[in-house]
Amino acid sequence: MNTAAAAVRTVLGDLDPAELGVCDAHDHLFLRSPVLPGEELDDPAAAEQVLRAFAAAGGRAFVQWTPAGMGRRAGALPELSRATGVHLVAATGLHQAVHYDPADLERRYAGLAGFFTAELTTGLHGAPAGVRAGLIKVAGDFHGLGAHTRRVMAAAAEAHHATGAPIAVHHELGTAATDVLDLLCDRHGVPPGRVILGHLNRHPDLRLHRRLAATGAFLALDGPSRAHHATDHHLFDTVAAVVEAGHADRLLLGGDTTTRGARHAPGPAHLLTALAPRLAREFGPGLPHRLLAANPARAFAAPWRAPAPGGAPAGS
Ligand SMILES: [Zn+2]
Repeated sequence: MNTAAAAVRTVLGDLDPAELGVCDAHDHLFLRSPVLPGEELDDPAAAEQVLRAFAAAGGRAFVQWTPAGMGRRAGALPELSRATGVHLVAATGLHQAVHYDPADLERRYAGLAGFFTAELTTGLHGAPAGVRAGLIKVAGDFHGLGAHTRRVMAAAAEAHHATGAPIAVHHELGTAATDVLDLLCDRHGVPPGRVILGHLNRHPDLRLHRRLAATGAFLALDGPSRAHHATDHHLFDTVAAVVEAGHADRLLLGGDTTTRGARHAPGPAHLLTALAPRLAREFGPGLPHRLLAANPARAFAAPWRAPAPGGAPAGS
């Protein structure tokens, strides 16, 4: 097993975390699901516009959480990154079962951990050779974890142990984060600091958020998105609760654009043009840099262990 210095694995190669810069830590350029008909994000020109607006506002890095089988357009990402100068991080992993054809899922279940590991170390399915994923995306269920979820999370944990990759979690309406940490960390041995909990401000239980931050896990809060008004107006209270409890180093921010409708919202640039100045006013001038640059550089950096050549993933 080789162990390299920690790096953020972008679609154009491994990056020194100090070079990451201002980062939208949870968003989507491309996404397709049978539960969101007519709302597909599938237009490279529109994706390029989003990235250009984000870069013009000072954005340097963008993490797409779209997992396998949901139209993530892995093949388009390197060119978009080159064209716009924005570092792009792509995901492997699987979402909730509802986003897939059942027969397709059955096929995917065989060798899931090996598939995730290969996408992180060899290359993303559907992308030019050597274009790799930089995180594993998984999803919980509403107030619990079902059989599909447990299976996918076990595979994600195995791929984490083989590679060092961070695991990013969708929480249904912001729920079940405690169950997720119990499963990934207590049962499967993933360090909490390698887990990124998404959407928690959809369920504004501030005592819980403080407790989750105290475990060492990262909390990726949703920023501006027309699809999630409640998320937006819970954001500041969630930030305040976690910062005042002394866990500002656990917070990440993302736009989480998931639909065409949401593209009409201000978009990821809003994180920088509207949210960052307000964060500075409310919490001091250092906080925007901390949440938008320093924390993502730690959250997405990994030692990138390589699986033994031709063999099973290391650590499995
Ligand atoms: Zn998302």
